[in-house]
Amino acid sequence: MTVPRLAPHATTIFAEVSQLATRHDAINLGQGFPDTDGPGSMIEAAVRALREGHNQYPPGPGVTELRHAIADVERASTGLVRDPDSEVLVTVGATEAIAGAVVGLVDDDDEVVVIEPYYDSYAATIAMAGAVRNSARLVLSDGRFRLDVGSLRAAFSPRTRAIIVNTPHNPTGAVLPREDLEEIAALCREFDAIAISDEVYEHLTFDGIEHISIATLPGMAERTLRISSAGKMLNCTGWKVGWVTGPAELVAGVRTAKQYMSFTGATPLQIAVAHALRHEQEWITSLRSGMQDRRDQLATVLEGVGFDLVVAQGTYFVTADPRPLGVTDAAAWCLELPERIGVAAVPFTPFVDTFADEWSHLVRFAYCKRPEVLDEAGRRLQSLTR
Ligand SMILES: *Cc1c(COP(=O)(O)O)cnc(C)c1O
Repeated sequence: MTVPRLAPHATTIFAEVSQLATRHDAINLGQGFPDTDGPGSMIEAAVRALREGHNQYPPGPGVTELRHAIADVERASTGLVRDPDSEVLVTVGATEAIAGAVVGLVDDDDEVVVIEPYYDSYAATIAMAGAVRNSARLVLSDGRFRLDVGSLRAAFSPRTRAIIVNTPHNPTGAVLPREDLEEIAALCREFDAIAISDEVYEHLTFDGIEHISIATLPGMAERTLRISSAGKMLNCTGWKVGWVTGPAELVAGVRTAKQYMSFTGATPLQIAVAHALRHEQEWITSLRSGMQDRRDQLATVLEGVGFDLVVAQGTYFVTADPRPLGVTDAAAWCLELPERIGVAAVPFTPFVDTFADEWSHLVRFAYCKRPEVLDEAGRRLQSLTR
């Protein structure tokens, strides 16, 4: 009975793969969540907050101490100066920040540009807003994913209200270089569009590659909403503490929508994340090097088995091409895999639309798992070579 505008988003192959993984007791390298906890002091801060009676609604925009911590950390890492009261909003994960930005700032029939492949919530929230989705795309060039500038120009029009940008990028693991972000910024300025910038993997870049926020490019601070989340930063994806920062008039639009989506998130968890942002920056830095090791561990296995890989520059994910193993329909193959070898991965199908044919052979594996889990996954994957 789902309404027609949401019906195409009703079920995802993610859910299907995860169900199969559970049924066949497979190692789930499909869904991107870590299997270890965040910093101990953060967990203790949450317990303390629960015991000390911080159990009622926080202020609408989020716990004051967290908004101040977000503004301070952002200023230190990007140089952006945001007012914690009017330019920082705490949300129920990055997911709500994205939905709030689209629903609160994009009108019926306005156009929103997305870049394929894209995180699956973008298309669904654009549909909720009754807006029109126009796709640009990434292309593989010299062994890395880059923006296809021609497709980007073609996707913009005078009706474009916003573009959703994601770097470091899920599902590909790409980190967009400055030149690509400059192309996006130039079109935003030309068409007076806003950038909704999903930077949940901002701390997870490897090999010394720098994450650049589009908000820091000329003329962009005043037209960018920068979104991040404690989930990927602090290994607490189940806490759903996210945030958005930007100019007051844009944040006000998100706040208006967010106010009636969830009103507020969980107070004790916001207090604990504030503690972690203040005191656990070293932990956040060490997560990056640990994740790079996990990336290398899984990449070695996958290459040994015979996959073609695109080196992940960041995130939790690596893009694998299973065609050398004789696989042509990646979606069908991912549905067989849990039963066949006890490992789950996801195809690119949920992340693509207009350019689906170009991506239908690719698979995403997550490496945000303990080394021993990746070892066991490696043993199981070996059976593909036989
Ligand atoms: C995980 C993820 C999100 C959602 O973040 P939450 O804080 O869990 O809501 C948003 N965007 C991307 C690209 C993600 O990978």
